[in-house]
Amino acid sequence: MNSRYDVAILGCGEAGIFAGYELMRRCPGLKVVAIDQGADIYSRSCPIVAGKVKECIHCKICDTMCGFGGAGAFSDGKYNFTTEFGGWLTDFMPKEEVMDLISYVDSINMEHGATDKVYSTSTPEAQALEKKALEFDLHLLQARCKHLGTENNLKILQSIYETARQGVEFRFRTAVTRIEAIGEKGYRLTTEKGDTVECTYFIAAPGRSGAEWFANQCKGLGIELINNQVDIGVRVEVPAKVFEHITDVVYESKLVYRTKGYGDQVRTFCMNPYGHVVAENVEGINTVNGHSYSDPALQSENTNFALLVSNRFTSPFNEPYRYGKHIASLSNMLAGGVLVQRFGDLVAGIRTNEHRMSKSFVRPTLTAAVPGDLSLALPKRQLDDIIEMIYQLDKLAPGTANYDTLLYGAEVKFYSSRLALSGELETAMDNFFAIGDGAGVTRGLAQAGASGVKVAQVIAARLR
Ligand SMILES: Cc1cc2nc3c(=O)[nH]c(=O)nc-3n(C[C@H](O)[C@H](O)[C@H](O)COP(=O)(O)OP(=O)(O)OC[C@H]3O[C@@H](n4cnc5c(N)ncnc54)[C@H](O)[C@@H]3O)c2cc1C
Repeated sequence: MNSRYDVAILGCGEAGIFAGYELMRRCPGLKVVAIDQGADIYSRSCPIVAGKVKECIHCKICDTMCGFGGAGAFSDGKYNFTTEFGGWLTDFMPKEEVMDLISYVDSINMEHGATDKVYSTSTPEAQALEKKALEFDLHLLQARCKHLGTENNLKILQSIYETARQGVEFRFRTAVTRIEAIGEKGYRLTTEKGDTVECTYFIAAPGRSGAEWFANQCKGLGIELINNQVDIGVRVEVPAKVFEHITDVVYESKLVYRTKGYGDQVRTFCMNPYGHVVAENVEGINTVNGHSYSDPALQSENTNFALLVSNRFTSPFNEPYRYGKHIASLSNMLAGGVLVQRFGDLVAGIRTNEHRMSKSFVRPTLTAAVPGDLSLALPKRQLDDIIEMIYQLDKLAPGTANYDTLLYGAEVKFYSSRLALSGELETAMDNFFAIGDGAGVTRGLAQAGASGVKVAQVIAARLR
């Protein structure tokens, strides 16, 4: 079947959703299709979460990462109002414009039920925390933040979906396998079902799950790509009380430290007070992540966060994606999935086994993780950096370096290859836009949504 649209959107994650939503608002009657390899927001179900299996069975399409809501659908929706992290949209447009777009996305979320509670950075407590962290050479990146909560985030997405489907045609469980330029007529997408979709304007929002495939398509189309970074580390889990004096004040603290051993930058990332550690499937490899509910009844007694070491490579190596996958696959090979170790065992050079784990005061929230030895999976450099950072954090949050602190590995944050884009997020090919995490321009919900609104506004202006 061949069909023609004014606009085709590839990917229904945060970026694609907000592109479609804004087009529907600004250009009623425009023929817009949004295609995703995953399911709609009601039908996404990970077999582990559904209790059908204990370990990741590497579904061809991961329901945790793919479908309406994309990678963020089961996140706890920490929404950061900042250009300091979460993306690089300021490389393409002024900071004020990015902040306006972020606020605009928030206003749409609020129309669909998002909270108005914001964690502020200007409170005396937040300022005092920043100062205290500096005493230990820990640099606190502050941002106003909203916590939507895992359960509310899902409801908001359902509500947005119900509105969006009135003006946008959605095609789910439909992977796009090929992107072609067809001259004056625009672009043709071929799906795995053999159908083709032609469009005048094409918005690619493939997220991290589609990044590798998208990079290959772009190479085929002659579009330039740059990529030289991958972040590797672990997910740390401690009793929530250890970080309470921080998370009560700023909710998500991003603490950055330069290690004395190697001069590497290590940072905390994605902090989840009273949260749960979860496994994540990135193209067949199990990595770790975390989330937290806002409903106290659903919360755990632990806080988890990632500790990541940034790795930038120089010539001749230019495959950070492969490097990151290799390291994650080593811990998968040892544990058959996610590996967990007590900090004290790691420092003592012994494996955490079932028996030692059973004695731990900290109870793992990811029960499927297998006790093991992270030092057999992570390179010495990254491991030394992580251990040094944990001792440093212990000064600000005593208890972080306790024997029973749990480390899950490996957590890997891939950076999508970055496309050369204009200030309107358009590739070198006319009317072909690339947005969100998969285009390498964002790293979080706020800026991903903002990038979607931006291209919708550009297209609406061209149609006027
Ligand atoms: C567990 C978890 C928790 C997170 N928590 C937060 C948080 O609290 N705050 C925050 O700011 N960020 C968070 N993030 C990151 C955030 O989810 C992403 O930054 C955001 O989802 C990026 O949006 P996107 O639209 O660019 O990509 P995605 O959300 O990844 O969506 C891309 C979509 O494209 C589809 N796709 C890809 N290739 C194809 C293809 N060939 N054919 C058809 N469809 C395709 C995929 O199925 C997917 O649905 C979290 C991520 C995870 C995994």
